[in-house]
Amino acid sequence: MTTLAIDNPATGERITELPADDAASVAAKAAAARAAQPGWAAVPLAVRKACITRFRAGIVRELDTLAATMTRETGKPIRMSRNELNGLLGRIDFFLAEVDGAAASETVFDDGGMKEQIQHVPLGVVANISAWNYPWFVGCNVIVPALLTGNTVLYKPSEYATLTGLEIARLLHEAGVPQDVFIPLVGAGAVGAALLAQPIDGLFFTGSHATGAKIAQAVGGRFIKLQLELGGKDPTYVCDDADPKAAAESLADGAMYNTGQSCCSVERIYVHEKIHDAFVAAFVDTVKTFKVGDPLSEDTYIGALTRAPQLELLEAQVADARAKGAVLLAGGRRGAGPGNWFEPTVFAHVNHGMALMREESFGPVIGIQKVGGDGEAVALMNDTRYGLTAGVYTPDAQRAQALLAQVNAGSVYWNCCDRVSPRLPWSGVGDSGVGLTLSRYGIQTFTRPKAWHLRQT
Ligand code: NAD
Repeated sequence: MTTLAIDNPATGERITELPADDAASVAAKAAAARAAQPGWAAVPLAVRKACITRFRAGIVRELDTLAATMTRETGKPIRMSRNELNGLLGRIDFFLAEVDGAAASETVFDDGGMKEQIQHVPLGVVANISAWNYPWFVGCNVIVPALLTGNTVLYKPSEYATLTGLEIARLLHEAGVPQDVFIPLVGAGAVGAALLAQPIDGLFFTGSHATGAKIAQAVGGRFIKLQLELGGKDPTYVCDDADPKAAAESLADGAMYNTGQSCCSVERIYVHEKIHDAFVAAFVDTVKTFKVGDPLSEDTYIGALTRAPQLELLEAQVADARAKGAVLLAGGRRGAGPGNWFEPTVFAHVNHGMALMREESFGPVIGIQKVGGDGEAVALMNDTRYGLTAGVYTPDAQRAQALLAQVNAGSVYWNCCDRVSPRLPWSGVGDSGVGLTLSRYGIQTFTRPKAWHLRQT
């Protein structure tokens, strides 16, 4: 039997080995999800909502243990694990409050003789292949609205967050969601690939651009709903009228939170030359206050990187930036092992010839580039194949509005960063993906609008 090893990225120790799926078990699970789907769709929405409400209560009840499990398998600092779970409660509340309206049938025309209606029917069997960096958020952004709208779900958590994925499954089943309605799969990429080969109706993926591209090719020619939430290289511009210290404190957090492993981490910073030096000094001062250490300690801010190969990518970006003349102001090296440690790293005097300013770092490494004005800043912000988020810092609302209108990104921020709201759609442009989650649209995306033409005889 195949197994999946689960290791603690902060210590290198093996936590456990789990029995993994193979092609045959994936096919059997997909068949079970198919058979269960009509029955689940026929369950009244109020009953499906009651299941999700109990699921939410289970998270509240077990929050500390669930946070510790996530921290042990991903290296996420424990305070941030609890933040994620607490934030998730608000997202679940949003879905519960919004689903009745978002999924309700609507009459869009009625002249007494002819009536036209839109009905939101479930897609059917939905596959969710997920990432490890916010496993509760990115999993439940799909799982909760998909279940509420009557789909059955085949869920392949990341191999780096499988214990958390299995906790999601246990809590859903304990809350009354039938075993065949929500089915977890255990394994690495090959299990995800086997899932793609099944007769699914929708594929919702969160992960890297490289895997997203493979997935798009694998499903090519099959007309299923495909959503890809991919990486980013998110820029922020600090204008000359911004408070350099306040902007630096906010952006240091945006760049380093979750050890820089957020899809919407600040990955590029452009600062107007008038306040550049004050900003850089405040930024480095802030980063130096971030405590690196045991992710289970309450005062840890920078934990272990979840995946060991990321260390090599960061080392290569650092070496490339140094070779091309960037000035290293903090960090720059791996921390001592065992475990996957990298020092919080700040570069100034970077440029777009460096990989650090072009390719996703997904770690505690940031480049700060001096710019001469707004036009240059906008051009640099848009000089990327990605487009997940972008921000500006200025007290001037009109200036912010004008700048953000020119930036190609799914989400834009004024005087804030690294932020996701359940009320707003979450999407990327360019190589950051296609489709969306969250908001009212992120509920409807798990449904197909069926058009009814009804003539009264
Ligand atoms: P990844 O692409 O390595 O893995 C994602 C998932 O795909 C995993 O479950 C993996 O097992 C599976 N997989 C791998 N190969 C596969 C294949 N050939 N067929 C099917 N499935 C396969 O990504 P990751 O390291 O887990 O996540 C990090 C990336 O996710 C970063 O780029 C980050 O920016 C991105 N991300 C984006 C968002 C967003 O909302 N846009 C949110 C979180 C993370």
